[in-house]
Amino acid sequence: MGGLQQPYEYRRRELAEPDWRRLPGWTDVTPAEWESAQWQRAHCVKNTRQLRDVAGPGLSEAFLADLERDQRERATMSMLIPPQMLNTIAPSVAASDPSCTEAWYADPVRRYMLPVFSDRQPLWPSHPYAQRDSLHEAEMWAVEGLTHRYPTKVLAELLPTCPQYCGHCTRMDLVGNPTAAFGKHKFAMAREDRLTAMLDYLRQTPGVRDVVVSGGDVANLPWPRLESFVSALLEIESVRDIRLASKALMGLPQHWLSAEVTAGMTRLAATARARGVNLAIHTHVNAAQSVTPLVAKAARAMFEAGVRDVRNQGVLLRGVNAGWPAPAGKTSAGPLLDLCFALLDGAGIMPYYFYMCDMIPGAEHWRLTLGEAQQLQSAIMGYLPGFATPRLVCDVPYVGKRWVHQVARYDTTLGISYWTKNYRTGLEAADPLALEREYPCYDPVHLLPAAGQAWWRDRVRQPELVELSLSHDTAQ
Ligand code: SF4
Repeated sequence: MGGLQQPYEYRRRELAEPDWRRLPGWTDVTPAEWESAQWQRAHCVKNTRQLRDVAGPGLSEAFLADLERDQRERATMSMLIPPQMLNTIAPSVAASDPSCTEAWYADPVRRYMLPVFSDRQPLWPSHPYAQRDSLHEAEMWAVEGLTHRYPTKVLAELLPTCPQYCGHCTRMDLVGNPTAAFGKHKFAMAREDRLTAMLDYLRQTPGVRDVVVSGGDVANLPWPRLESFVSALLEIESVRDIRLASKALMGLPQHWLSAEVTAGMTRLAATARARGVNLAIHTHVNAAQSVTPLVAKAARAMFEAGVRDVRNQGVLLRGVNAGWPAPAGKTSAGPLLDLCFALLDGAGIMPYYFYMCDMIPGAEHWRLTLGEAQQLQSAIMGYLPGFATPRLVCDVPYVGKRWVHQVARYDTTLGISYWTKNYRTGLEAADPLALEREYPCYDPVHLLPAAGQAWWRDRVRQPELVELSLSHDTAQ
């Protein structure tokens, strides 16, 4: 097999921490400061003025104006990016280089963490059916913030903040600060009451064995509070899997490397082991360049603390890890495979899922069609070990995660895929047809053939037609 030309050429890449001192705002920052979680949190970039101060005059005023316009008119998430993440943007370009702005525009991490107005799809920035809570999680709250969608597992949203805000965030309805264009839902209950109610629900619901402890990002909960919540979960006999969701393992690895957190995780992991519970960390990395030596060190620290696994749940995003045309004789899955190998070889993190980007407002320029996602899934098969080959999934509203090839029917002209489900949520308790129904999901309109785009243009002009035709399709 050696010497054969393959669509993807694997080669082992060494991880690299870009030199932050190339950025004018950080020329004097010492390694000790850089590795301090406190320093990182205190120096997050939250607005264009701070970005200008860090990046210096190499980043053009036109770029900053593009970013500001997006914040005013389109952004669903406010700007918040820790130095660790910012430093991975255009990692090999000096701030004084004339190509600096161009490199920032083209950069995968910039594209989803600092979206600019000119990135957005001009004709269809949002799908006609885009929704703030696109997965209807709040409708499935058993208690406020506890989504019970699948029969045996729940998602506990402990808090609505993160150390970093991603432009495509699915929970944009709840997570983060209000933006100029979008307010945020506020939890009605006080946090302590909510967390107590969640634990009470789980004690009374022994059919739930798997708890995703999330947010937001658990790295923003004071450690003692997180430890006491997870300790209480470990007391519940029926809970067998606990997954802590934290993008900060990549965005702010300094948090997971702090002495308080590693000591606390060691205590939790020891209890979990003694009780036969699987305690894992789920992180969210979308681009290979984000996997730096510090990220690998944080993952290693978690293994040394005794967690069972560190897994990655990324999001398929055009221009970030997908959606480029394939170079001649090569695969378009190159960036996705590079990311998976960086995670696996470099940091021991398991590539687990890639979600198709959900249909929130302003997401159309990032989203792939189902057909593109199916091609990607096929293209990555056979390169990674089977246990580390991620599943590409579509999170279908009212259904849940479905592998992209599980679609029941797919109308590629109208860009509507139809899915079925094999379990009920509490919402369908009284619906005898819940398990026979087909549930629709939609491709971005601007990627459809001309006939499909014309169909959607007509429907948007006459919204009642959309309702009629889609309720007909759904009921079939
Ligand atoms: S870390 Fe997760 S919850 Fe927080 S903004 Fe990003 S995608 Fe949303």
